[in-house]
Amino acid sequence: MTRRGPVRAFVGLGSNLGDAKGNLHAAVVDLKALPQTSVLAVSSLYRTAPVDADGPDFINAVAELTTRLSPHELLRGLQAIELSHGRQRPYRNAPRTLDLDLLLYGNTRINEPDLVVPHPRLHERAFVLAPLEELAPRLTIAGHGSVADLRSATSAQSVDRCMEPPPD
Ligand code: AMP
Repeated sequence: MTRRGPVRAFVGLGSNLGDAKGNLHAAVVDLKALPQTSVLAVSSLYRTAPVDADGPDFINAVAELTTRLSPHELLRGLQAIELSHGRQRPYRNAPRTLDLDLLLYGNTRINEPDLVVPHPRLHERAFVLAPLEELAPRLTIAGHGSVADLRSATSAQSVDRCMEPPPD
């Protein structure tokens, strides 16, 4: 494994199956256990109507990490956490116990078959932008502009801040 300096990364968390709030709290515990990675902050939880997905409302949040994992190592770690929470993919956009997306990895742009960063739909989804703005209001998304401006542009999408951040 190549040694690299720590990189600030953001991960989107979502659940709309079972105990969604509990699933997100458990996922944060798992993120904290990733190697060479620390969780710097977790947003409040947000209740959001499904977008491009089926089933009940989602609970969404964003976690800010610092990591020495490569982008692909981090993606594999996120996928292992999803699997450990019983994520199944019976059909595209099915309800999910846990969905973890690598939103941002420093300022790095990646465009590979299995990994696109910044996440390709990040800039148009209020359920990601609202918690991201809470953690990093001055952040800019490469190629799209400031999180604050993007959040304003998606204000028609229903996103209710519903709970305080998960406890440490
Ligand atoms: P989903 O079903 O929404 O969880 O999408 C998972 C698929 O998206 C996997 O095959 C990943 O390889 C791919 N993917 C591409 N870019 C990303 C990203 N930034 N974060 C998470 N998954 C990604």
